[in-house]
Amino acid sequence: MTVTLGALNGMDRAAFVELLGAVFEHSPWIAEAAWQRRPFADVEALHQAMVDIVIAAPRDRQLALLKAHPELGASKIVAEFSRREQASAGLDSARLADAAKLRNLNRTYRERFGFPFILAVKGKRREDIVAAMEERVIHAADDEFAVALDEVAKIARFRLDDILAEDRVAAASDAMEGVGAELMRRADELGAVTEVPGTVTRTFLTPQHREAARMVMDWMRLAGMDATMDAIGNVVGRYEGAKPGLPALLLGSHLDTVRDAGKYDGILGVLTAIACVGALHKRGERLPFAVEVIGFGDEEGVRFQSTLLGSRAVAGTFDKAALDRKDADGITLREALTVFGLDPAGIRMIARRRADVLGYLELHIEQGPVLEADNLPVGIVTSIAGGTRANIEIAGMSGHAGTVPMKLRHDALAAAAEIMLAIEARARDNPALVATVGRIAASPGATNVIPGKATFSLDLRSPDDATRLGAYTDIVASAQSIGRKRGVTVAIDRTFESPAVGCSGWLMVEIERAVAALGVTRRRLASGAGHDAMAIASLCDVGMIFVRCKGGISHNPAESITASDAEMGARVLYNVLRKFQPRDATAPRRNERAEK
Ligand SMILES: [Zn+2]
Repeated sequence: MTVTLGALNGMDRAAFVELLGAVFEHSPWIAEAAWQRRPFADVEALHQAMVDIVIAAPRDRQLALLKAHPELGASKIVAEFSRREQASAGLDSARLADAAKLRNLNRTYRERFGFPFILAVKGKRREDIVAAMEERVIHAADDEFAVALDEVAKIARFRLDDILAEDRVAAASDAMEGVGAELMRRADELGAVTEVPGTVTRTFLTPQHREAARMVMDWMRLAGMDATMDAIGNVVGRYEGAKPGLPALLLGSHLDTVRDAGKYDGILGVLTAIACVGALHKRGERLPFAVEVIGFGDEEGVRFQSTLLGSRAVAGTFDKAALDRKDADGITLREALTVFGLDPAGIRMIARRRADVLGYLELHIEQGPVLEADNLPVGIVTSIAGGTRANIEIAGMSGHAGTVPMKLRHDALAAAAEIMLAIEARARDNPALVATVGRIAASPGATNVIPGKATFSLDLRSPDDATRLGAYTDIVASAQSIGRKRGVTVAIDRTFESPAVGCSGWLMVEIERAVAALGVTRRRLASGAGHDAMAIASLCDVGMIFVRCKGGISHNPAESITASDAEMGARVLYNVLRKFQPRDATAPRRNERAEK
């Protein structure tokens, strides 16, 4: 039988002892005493309480506890726990080749110390066990008594983890049942908050931003969180852990959209995070850490042409110069914040201290076609591609479309076309590289005039920085060479450079475990699009879960997901959350780069 910690804390004495009475071999008195020490914040606290009870017990009780253990490799093992544990280490008698040696060691040990040899065998090989026995049989009696009690405590921890952990996945299924429909409904409600009727358009620091933030804060409060808006316009909900003020695991994504966007980009990550906390709240469950859900105010950078403003502020990398950036109407970010009712001077206070943050998890639609092609609802992100952007300007010679012979022309637009083809060719054969020219303009721009000037954009991305930078160097070289050949000048202005960000290996493993526990094939993939996790990665370890979207379409009204995929994503996030083991936030960073 398995239960949740919440249920365990609420049990009467008889049920509690029935469940935990065998955690220490044939010694229900330990569970009886532990019952009075409820509630327990986590398995660790429960285990510690039980161990404390053993340590405080008189020596004859401790000895009785040691004596209650079966002999390793014994032919008759009554307790189910011990039988399974020993079988997993190859100690079940049927598989034992040198049973005689072990029997002799066992006898010598028992004669010497008065209790059987006890070892937490889980995960150990037979050779290790025999070696430990040979070493410990020559210990002084008091030393060995202490070692044996230590082993008993270790065994108890494995058993408690079994009792409490197995159920966590099953519990997740109940808690998240039907959440997909609710996620879709809320995404529809948010999608209706738009600057341009008939589309989804919600940019930074607009009345629609305020309205969306208000709705999200309401949902956060319903889910048991304290919700506030910070000085850059992020919505932050906090769900305290077993006691107030613990370091927090951050969950989230963004609330802003591009123009004429879909309903799920960004939003889905905020809504699923709220749903997970809501499920905890409904069960009255507190985790051994706090959970914070953040709806970032600006990720897309539509209004001020500067992306990730919200997450950079949280990460402590907000560039103050951004306050002077102007939108299309000439309003600076500083002015827009003030009009919105926020204090720009407060932005630096948003930056989190590393010791307060345990990690960051972001769920996001894939925005690409990989999961759909593999017929999978969710995937585990390995890294977020780095990017280089540039403006390329070609200056040629304009002239009459009828009078200038072809071989005397210096057509800027034709040169741009040739360079574009070279860019495409450079990226086409490398699966780890994508290159896009998304915007082009020619002047004077008349049907009967040879273009004298052409400007176009370049966007290069790769999960591997060297690949991207190498391609950029090659593209610059071929653009110049094409320019020389055609007698036009080529000016290249690199406007943006962002290195690739690796998701943390240990968080990928946590996500993979949750995916596998739900019976879904694990699929790792890189993210070609940028996300808030890129900015947060400078603060703490980050992990990302992708949810399949139809046709890989995003930044488009046709963006589409299913309720069942949304629910699967939420279940993965919920399982990761409930099994999450906080790491010491002050320990060295473990941001190893993901394998590709
Ligand atoms: Zn997004």
